[in-house]
Order: sequence, then C-alpha cells, then structure tokens
Amino acid sequence: MLSKQFKKELLKTPRGTRDLLESDLVIFDEIKKRAEELARYYGYHKIQTPAFEHADLFLAALGDTTDMVEKQMYTFRSRGGDHLVLRPEKTVPTMRAYFEHGMQSEPQPVMVYSVGSCFRHESPQKGRFREFTQFDLDILGEDLAVADATTIRMFNLIFKEIKIDATLELNTIGDKECRPIYRKELVAYYRKHFNQLCKDCKRRYKENPLRLLDCKEPTCAELKQKAPQMIEYLCDECKKHFKSVLEFMDTLEISYRLNPYLVRGLDYYSRTVFEFIVTIPPENEKEPARRLEVGGGGRYDYLGDVLGGRHVPAVGGAFGVDRVAEVLRQSADLEEYKGQPPRVFLIQLGDAAKKKSLYLMEEFRKAKIPLSQSLSKDSIRGQLRIASKVGADFSLIIGQKEAMDGTVIIRDMDSGMQESLPFAKVIERLHSKLKSVPFSKRMPKAEFSEEDLNQL
Ligand SMILES: [Zn+2]
Ligand SMILES: [Zn+2]
Repeated sequence: MLSKQFKKELLKTPRGTRDLLESDLVIFDEIKKRAEELARYYGYHKIQTPAFEHADLFLAALGDTTDMVEKQMYTFRSRGGDHLVLRPEKTVPTMRAYFEHGMQSEPQPVMVYSVGSCFRHESPQKGRFREFTQFDLDILGEDLAVADATTIRMFNLIFKEIKIDATLELNTIGDKECRPIYRKELVAYYRKHFNQLCKDCKRRYKENPLRLLDCKEPTCAELKQKAPQMIEYLCDECKKHFKSVLEFMDTLEISYRLNPYLVRGLDYYSRTVFEFIVTIPPENEKEPARRLEVGGGGRYDYLGDVLGGRHVPAVGGAFGVDRVAEVLRQSADLEEYKGQPPRVFLIQLGDAAKKKSLYLMEEFRKAKIPLSQSLSKDSIRGQLRIASKVGADFSLIIGQKEAMDGTVIIRDMDSGMQESLPFAKVIERLHSKLKSVPFSKRMPKAEFSEEDLNQL
C-alpha cells in the first residue's frame, strides 16, 4: 500500500516543474504567436529538434571547464544503453541540425527559429523552473555585424510587440586572438585578490575566470570594479565588429547600455554578447527591485569548429517564455491576452434537447459562430446565470417543447427580448444579430432578478 506521504507527493508535479493551465497558456500562446509572426516576416524558418540529445553532444560543446553546467544537466541512460541528456538549451542542437541536414550547402546565412522546452536542474526559485520554454532565433553562416544587429533587433521588436519594457545591455568578449590575452590580465589581477574571493569565485578563478565578472557577492562585485575590461584588449577586427554593431543600434534607434561585465562562460562564444533586462518593482519596501533577465544571446563562432570540425560563424539568442509571461502578469493589461468571450450561449433543458443541441453545435461550428454551453446544469436559471457571467450577447434556449417542434429560442441577453425560430433559420438570424451588436457593448451582463427569471 502507498504510504500517506507518498500519496501526497504522487499528486504533485516534480519539484521545479508546474502545470500550465488555460489561464497561463492563453498568455504563453499569444507570446509565441507574436514572436513567431515577427520571425517569419523577417525570414526565419521554423525548426524543431528533439527534447533529448546525445549527452556527448553537449559535453563536447561545453568543453572541460563547466562543471556547473554539467551538474545542471538531466543526463540519463536509455534502456538500450545510450547516454542521453534533456536539452539544457537549443543553440547546440541547432548547430547539430545544421550539420546533420547539410545546411552549409544551402544559401548562407541560414536563419532559423524554434520554440520548445529546455531542462535544467537548478535550485528552484521565483520565476525559475526546471522545465521552461524558450524561443530561439539563430543566424548561421554569417560573420558580418549585420547578423548580430539583426538578432538583437528581432528581440527588441518582439519585446515591443509583446509590450515588455526591456533594457538592452551589450558587451563584446573578443575572439581567439584577443581573449586569451585579456584572460591572462584578468587572472593576474585576481591572483592579487584571491583571498577576498567568495567560495564559488575561487573555483571560477581556476576553471573559468571570465565568470568572475558575473558574481553578485558584495566583495566580488567590488573587486570587479577595478578589474581590467575586455574592451581595452580587443584586437582590431573585434573592435571593428563591435563598432559596427553599435552603429547599427544607433541607426535602428535601439537604445542600449554597455555592460563590461556581461560575459559568457563557454569557450565557443565570441564577440557580441547581449541581454535584455526587466526591472521588477519590489513587492514591499524592504525588498530591492529585482533585475530579471528575460532574454539574451550572442555570437558563437566556435561552436561549429567544436561540433563539426568546420568553422560556421553564427549568432543567436533566446528569450524565456515563462519569464516574459511572469513580467506580463505583473505589469501589463492582460485583457487582450484573454481571447474573445463566447458570444452565444447554448442552453438545453432535458434529454431530448441535449441530443438536439449536440447536433446543433456542429452546425454552429461550421457556420463559425463561437458558442459555449454548460453540459450538465439542468435548470434554466443556472444556465442563464452562466451565460451572463461569461458575457454572452445571446442565449439559445432549447427546451422539451422546442426539441419536439424543431425550434430554438434566441434571447438577447441585454434586453431580455426573445424570439422563437425553426432550426434552419437560426444560423442566418444569429449572423445578422451578431453583426449588429457593437463590440463595445459587450462584457459582463447584469445579473438576473428573481422576477426576470420567473417570467421565463
Ligand atoms: Zn564571487
Ligand atoms: Zn579579437
């Protein structure tokens, strides 16, 4: 027998995951729809890779300096003995797909977008989930700054379209020419301050010194103020590239903030790095405002070399649909995300009427009349109350008598006026009635008085 505790756990989603219900999904779907429309308009093609990949694919991409990322990956052995991983992100699978489908022989650049779940075993905290939805945009096979600018602009447009006020932060992390020199300088600087570093940073110092600039611990944050900055060590090519990206931003009137501490820990990243930040006001006076990264990305010119032994200059980024939805919930007027309420409510009384109405519903669907109903409630009062609550303009009433006669009563929910029509005429009549009711008049109708109901 199952223990009580176990039973209780059985009825909950695993830690760090959640169910998305209708009220979440209308927002999710609308975000995805708007992003997708923009992506398609600007020439991106949709791609969908599996939710899991060979673990070695990610291990190869991540190199040997990223134990943090490895720890966050959901790796497992399949029954056949394959070593697999639930994808922690989609850049690596996208590059894998580029090689697998010979996209290098198509006209370059290849522009793709994708949307789907990613998985990371992070410690759950507010707005962070172990399964989350990402919307990715990638341009593969182009090294010009226009590709970086296009990518950033796409996210800028998407956030505008979704009505999210996000600040763009930009940086460059150089390339194989200039980054090693910078890294040496950085290590030399931190060597002098090693004892002041937090525990995590002591580890980062050895494995991934660029990530030292990422630390939020107060002492580390103070140390980085005086740390050498990448921008001073850029080679001429990287300098030219970054300058060009910034010129595009100016031309496109996209405002940005240079953030010299914006870095990527993985070796396959190069040059441009960007993030979009939303500031969330504190819930009470004691708490500070929260900085929430809603999207970001950068250039990853060396990923192709690592995975496929072939140089594929590429740039891309992603935004978190969950996070954007969270921001929208807190800041935006969500009316437009809620979808149209049904305009017509179908009321049926008794078995004969229920049978008739199941048949009728399909006729209404074909006639594109949005309809809602309550299958079980058998009192006219109960059903009229629901019709009023959902904001329907008209109710269709089928009782015993109507089911026998082959008629339907149309009730105007505002005026209470009713008329009885044969089935065959109802659709035509409803079409003309719906056209005549202005949208502004809609939503929520008055409650019924007892007197009103008694007249029925
Ligand atoms: Zn630190
Ligand atoms: Zn360089």
